[in-house]
Amino acid sequence: MTSLNARPVAVEDFHARKDAVLRVEWNLGRRCNFDCSYCSPDTHDKVSPHLSWELIERTLDRLAFLARREGKRMRLSLTGGEPYLHPDFQRLIAAAKQKGIERVHVTTNGSLLEKAYLASLAHLDQITFSYHFEFGDVERFLNLLRTLQNAVTGTDTTLAVHLMVLPGKADEVAHMMRVLKDLGVNLVLRRIRPQFSSQGGYVKPFESGRLGVPRATTPPMGSYYAASDLAVFAELT
Ligand code: SF4
Repeated sequence: MTSLNARPVAVEDFHARKDAVLRVEWNLGRRCNFDCSYCSPDTHDKVSPHLSWELIERTLDRLAFLARREGKRMRLSLTGGEPYLHPDFQRLIAAAKQKGIERVHVTTNGSLLEKAYLASLAHLDQITFSYHFEFGDVERFLNLLRTLQNAVTGTDTTLAVHLMVLPGKADEVAHMMRVLKDLGVNLVLRRIRPQFSSQGGYVKPFESGRLGVPRATTPPMGSYYAASDLAVFAELT
């Protein structure tokens, strides 16, 4: 058994509220097939072990027990790393529903095969795709969304996209916004908060002005650009 699997999974209700829904976010582990420059090494790698099925099943049982005990419906959000890389991911989401977890939501980088996403739809209430320009392929991603939006039409499953707005990708962002709007997919533009190198400066150099807005100043520390710079895309929303 690996050290990761030997540890109990912590279960926290980050949004404890006096309402009828228990919201739980479950990070399935760091394993990810991308290596985004703005993502902390604490969040992703290509070598971390997967959680064992035994631990997953125990955790699902525990979550279902908590929901019953509190007399609440549960909304379970699965994150990572990349959750679909777990070899038991499809089994996990099917079991979550069977055990009475009412709503299951996953966030993915969209890099898996179309058939993996199609197979998961029956067990998910929402898939949020976070699109990462450093590793994604724009047209492949949009084709995937076309297929999946078609597949969920008339069902209760919804799709959403979070576009990570990388400097230099303003034209691609605008193109994707137009296509996703036509498809009726919910879209959020996400401002990137880059990592800093130990030698000083950003891990990925800032590309001044490449968002399509002229910049007279250096970027503020902690971000490539100001949140207000995203206003350049407002007419497309
Ligand atoms: S896809 Fe997500 S988890 Fe993976 S490296 Fe990029 S930001 Fe990190």
